[in-house]
Amino acid sequence: MNIHEYQGKEVLKQYGVIVPEGKVAFTVDEAVEAAQTLGTKVVVVKAQIHAGGRGKAGGVKIAKNLDEVRTYAEEILGKTLVTHQTGPEGKEVKRLLIEQGCDIKKEYYIGIVVDRVTGRVVMMASEEGGTEIEEVAEHSPEKIFKEVIDPVVGLLPFQARKLAFAIKIPNELVNKAASFMVSLYTAFVEKDCSIAEINPLVVTGDGQVMALDAKLNFDSNALYRHKDIVALRDLDEEDDKEIQASKFDLSYIALDGNIGCMVNGAGLAMATMDIIKYYGGDPANFLDVGGGATKEKVTEAFKIILSDEKVKGIFVNIFGGIMRCDVIADGVIAAAKELGLDRPLVVRLEGTNVELGKKMLNESGLNIVAADSMADGAQKIVALVK
Ligand code: ADP
Ligand code: MG
Repeated sequence: MNIHEYQGKEVLKQYGVIVPEGKVAFTVDEAVEAAQTLGTKVVVVKAQIHAGGRGKAGGVKIAKNLDEVRTYAEEILGKTLVTHQTGPEGKEVKRLLIEQGCDIKKEYYIGIVVDRVTGRVVMMASEEGGTEIEEVAEHSPEKIFKEVIDPVVGLLPFQARKLAFAIKIPNELVNKAASFMVSLYTAFVEKDCSIAEINPLVVTGDGQVMALDAKLNFDSNALYRHKDIVALRDLDEEDDKEIQASKFDLSYIALDGNIGCMVNGAGLAMATMDIIKYYGGDPANFLDVGGGATKEKVTEAFKIILSDEKVKGIFVNIFGGIMRCDVIADGVIAAAKELGLDRPLVVRLEGTNVELGKKMLNESGLNIVAADSMADGAQKIVALVK
């Protein structure tokens, strides 16, 4: 789960991470009022969307007086920002962060991720802050320094200092930077983050080390123990179909292609997307209906696929182990009857109650193309949507 920058900064503040004073605003008037209460000479008007690259796209503006705050707030609120992280359709700005302007001496980068190779949390740091870290990683990887963190003892002060020296934080501020890193790491672990990225971390003219941007992602499997984080969810930022799917506890991810997939098991769902690609098609989604899915859940899953206008055909690929093929058939038939099935449907069923499932589909009157294997099914649906 993703949250906004201003929310991320609030979370980090609880752990002693230093951030500029700021306030969220939903309207132009609120923005001006927030700037007034901040009382600093310069304020920054920042678009709040779940994507980075806002600065380059015109979503971060420095205002020198209240009139400029009003002008920029009017300009940014309601605007659709297209950044390298939003995709070409962009994202509409509905909230602003009005923040103290900072006297930046230099920008740095700090990121924390879970590294799958070492199976540990890794802190990365670079003196190339404020720019896209992906670019740095590609063109000058030697400028990114890493420390692997032992979960038993956490980020040790000497590791933090090592990173601070490596990225050339001024000597007199190394201790401040190191304690910033330790606070950030503590927040990461205690809040079950999957990503914590501060880009830029800045050193200011008056000798402070602070986070000017904050991107926090949370492990959704751990959200049950963080009610405060769940409360920060902004449904406006999420795909409607994914929201609907999460209500029914379905693992659904929207993709760009035109072949809707309904599969049981994450592994089989991945393999189904691969085989569709292999035969020259493009999946419209990842969907794992899970092992013990009920008819209602399957019906809902099928409805979500049908509600996607990009979908030109559907491939149902079920290996019924715990999941029974007749339950799948029941759900598909119910959803198709309710919404009408106006697109080609290829079904491959194997496993528990497969004969019953096939019989139900055959007798349903629906126009279904049966497949004997996964490869056969993939080839058939790719041909049908072409
Ligand atoms: P994004 O990463 O989405 O472009 P940032 O929050 O990193 O957005 O802002 C982009 C740039 O704007 C920063 O690198 C920094 O130079 C400047 N900036 C952001 N917040 C402030 C602030 N409070 N004071 C001064 N400059 C800022
Ligand atoms: Mg940034």
